[in-house]
Amino acid sequence: MTTPVFPPLRAAYEPEAFRATAHALMDQLADYLKAALAGGAMPVLPWAPPAVNQERFATAFPEEPAPEVSQAFAALMARVLEGSHHLHHPRYVGHQVTAPVPLAALCDAVSSLLNNGMAVYEMGPVATAMEHHVLAWMAAKLGLPSSTRGVLTSGGSAGNLTALLAARQAKAGYDAWNGGAHAGPPLTVLVPRSAHYCLARAVRIMGWGEGGLTPVDVDDHFRVRPDALEDALERATRAGRKAIAVVASAGSTATGAFDPLEPVADFAQKHGLWFHVDGAHGAAASLSPKYRAQVKGIERADSVVWDAHKGLLMPALVTAVLFRDGARSFDAFSQEAHYLFHGDGDDARPYSDVGLRTLECTKEMMPLKVYACLSVLGTRVFEEAVTASYDQARRFAGMLTAAPDFELALEPDCNIVCFRHTPAHVPPEGWDALQVRLREALVSRGSFYLVQTRLPRGVYLRTTLIHPLTGDADLESLLDTLRSAAARP
Ligand SMILES: *Cc1c(COP(=O)(O)O)cnc(C)c1O
Repeated sequence: MTTPVFPPLRAAYEPEAFRATAHALMDQLADYLKAALAGGAMPVLPWAPPAVNQERFATAFPEEPAPEVSQAFAALMARVLEGSHHLHHPRYVGHQVTAPVPLAALCDAVSSLLNNGMAVYEMGPVATAMEHHVLAWMAAKLGLPSSTRGVLTSGGSAGNLTALLAARQAKAGYDAWNGGAHAGPPLTVLVPRSAHYCLARAVRIMGWGEGGLTPVDVDDHFRVRPDALEDALERATRAGRKAIAVVASAGSTATGAFDPLEPVADFAQKHGLWFHVDGAHGAAASLSPKYRAQVKGIERADSVVWDAHKGLLMPALVTAVLFRDGARSFDAFSQEAHYLFHGDGDDARPYSDVGLRTLECTKEMMPLKVYACLSVLGTRVFEEAVTASYDQARRFAGMLTAAPDFELALEPDCNIVCFRHTPAHVPPEGWDALQVRLREALVSRGSFYLVQTRLPRGVYLRTTLIHPLTGDADLESLLDTLRSAAARP
């Protein structure tokens, strides 16, 4: 006797139907990719106000399957492709989100079908092995020692929190994990003013409040001022806080400026502080022989965060958190006291369950796409992508400097370039409003996608040259498009 199954439920698992739908989807995606890469008349972002999309996708989910599931699926995916933001359009120069290498998307389909959760080794035997190999490759690129271990987690924000939790366990002098944030003296972390906001969130999540973050001043280039570190430490001490860690950004978010890592490492060493590098955006510089020097000193970090979905052409999310002392990788979420693990730690449990070290319990097969792309495409592709994007940012900066009606905010350290349009017909007091208006005009027309940021001197347009196929001609055209938009009131 066969177990009765609701027929549409059985049909939803039918392999031949899946094959047909999948083949059709692959054709649809390849056609989409071709059109997006060609750019042309396709808008980068088919702009519509939120209420319009809300209305467009308003639906009463039906009780029964569509008459032709495969066709209904294709029709829905066509609407998704059409209405979404086209990151493969070469005129996408906005946030630090990549035009993913298409092969990686196929890995996500495999991951979703296999659904090997990875919290425990048995639930993801292949993915667990891949995760350790991917992390080892990244650690080696950064020059971290072979003792380095870590995890892949859901984004830089989760990654920085993970690193700071481990720092707390290592340096607080008491067991804050079990005893709570108030089981000992109040703690703080020294963080450059230009750092990503997720660090301010992380200290609040840990229950340290606003004073859990002690800001460190930056220079005109938005790089941390090493001579301001002692002052920040004194401020923290006067405020009754015990500093446990110092953070540096390898690529800050707003401007892409790299903090000088060596002097921060020296400072951390002198004061016995944990040294954490937020390399979410810029740790990938380590791949480029030409730009590796940007991250000199990263090999001295106690922990590093690196987003593969920023510098490694991967779709979101896949973030590495690396700990130079591999045993520390168990500290962030250790239910047991650290002394139980430390010393035997990973040596006693080599390549063990990744769930011991992550915020996530179940997680997707994050390493698969990184491992597969590195294996099949080779590492050179990724090195060249970094070098080429940083080179292009320098050429773009040159174009801006040469143009009398544009102002470069600062020489770029990586692939983030901030600038503003300063045409003679607009007085300086009108420049902030002009940048806002120009961005809105370009984005709403779909001709380019770029963002804006507020720097001390005012509002600037901000671009991340993260699409490997954006050409210099696209950037020339960006300036011309801004000029003509400014000329129109
Ligand atoms: C993007 C970014 C983050 C946040 O990473 P997500 O992956 O978006 O969570 C943190 N720090 C820096 C420097 C970043 O650029």
